[in-house]
Amino acid sequence: MTVVVVGQDPKQFKEVSCRNCGARLRYCRDDVEHRSYTCCGKPESDDMIQCPQCTHWVTV
Ligand SMILES: [Zn+2]
Repeated sequence: MTVVVVGQDPKQFKEVSCRNCGARLRYCRDDVEHRSYTCCGKPESDDMIQCPQCTHWVTV
């Protein structure tokens, strides 16, 4: 037997915990947003998802 790739599943779920409220979140690539924000006076950007429970943006 040989493993063959027959396609790519775009809905590959990952899990992360919200650092603000502790909710366990499952997300897929489509949910990730690349957002810019300011940290310590410096412009930063990261891939983030928004927690549906507390609306906090969680870096993934
Ligand atoms: Zn949260």
